[in-house]
Amino acid sequence: MFLETETTPETCVGVVKSHTMHKKNPGQHAGDLEMLANHDEAKFALSGEIDCIRVDGATDEGPSHFEVQFMWTERHLHHGKICTLVTSRFAGGSYLNKVELQNGCLALGHSNLFIPSTIYGSNFVNGELDRKMLVQNLEAALSVYINTVIGAQCGGKPIHLTRGSTDEYSSKVQERRDRLIIFLRGSQKKKKELKEAYPEDYDYFLRIWQVRKDHMIEKLPANYVFLLLPCYKPNCLHAVCTKGLPRKPATWFKDGPPFSFVPLPIPDPARPSGGPCKSCKDNCNGHYLPPERQYEFVKEHGSEYCTQPPSKVLKEFAKNHETCSEEEMEEFSKTCLLSVSDVQMWMKNLNNGKQKKKKQKKAVTANLDEEEGQGDEGDEENDEVY
Ligand SMILES: [Zn+2]
Ligand SMILES: [Zn+2]
Repeated sequence: MFLETETTPETCVGVVKSHTMHKKNPGQHAGDLEMLANHDEAKFALSGEIDCIRVDGATDEGPSHFEVQFMWTERHLHHGKICTLVTSRFAGGSYLNKVELQNGCLALGHSNLFIPSTIYGSNFVNGELDRKMLVQNLEAALSVYINTVIGAQCGGKPIHLTRGSTDEYSSKVQERRDRLIIFLRGSQKKKKELKEAYPEDYDYFLRIWQVRKDHMIEKLPANYVFLLLPCYKPNCLHAVCTKGLPRKPATWFKDGPPFSFVPLPIPDPARPSGGPCKSCKDNCNGHYLPPERQYEFVKEHGSEYCTQPPSKVLKEFAKNHETCSEEEMEEFSKTCLLSVSDVQMWMKNLNNGKQKKKKQKKAVTANLDEEEGQGDEGDEENDEVY
């Protein structure tokens, strides 16, 4: 879904995919995006120099996952983007994304629709699955779905539908995916083997990953924000960097703050935890500065007042502490602008997560080496809080 801007209308496009033909992974998403660049309804939104994308936190799209970061960096580089910003809401907050409305409208659009899975005949020949027939049947089912549901209304606008990409680029990305995962997350031994067996792939991955290293803005909360901006290093591969530093830094909007400014929450000094507060009846947990006042504040006071998300602050603490005393809860309530009961809930959730991870690690760590353990740190799913 492409949200409305001052110059472009809101546009709903659905990519219809089927299992077997389309995978649910970052490579498929990247392939779909490339395909949409030629779609009549989507190309206006994808051709700009700036990509701002809101996603969910799961492994196939969450901004902290290495494979996701790789695919965005590849696009950032090949399309010469001056800014690529991928953001995600807190776990459980996806319902606030407008695209969920589109999903609901699609569900309404396909209610009472039944598509047989064997339009061209049985998928089994002599008791064995006939892959060719399965694909043919799935293709037919996709066409029926698209032809029937296309034009379903979402907020008074039609939803455009197109089938998931299986073009050359998508196939290439899927074909190399196992090797990419070894490059990103494999052990030293596996990486060495990859380098010897596929030197061209390895070099290519290395080049993209170097751009990611040079362009990624550090100190942003990794689970929620992934931001790539030109590094302007003379030997960088990115077309914007090779042109050299611009005279005036690019800004988010006319006379607005530069791209390097990301409005992370800043506790409002005038409305601290404990009040007095006009908007809360009692028990004020404090408030954050409204976004439009943040840049002025940062210019005046520096960015050290920006807070990391409570999930991160509390996670750091929970890493080294088994329990959290009442005084510590009170303290976190003040620094994270959360109620004490919210802090309690987070702590409980983090400890549950820790226990779960311990169990999982026992099963998985066997073939991971130390380097991968480090690399893995930013590559984990958002903690789920309900
Ligand atoms: Zn660069
Ligand atoms: Zn208040």
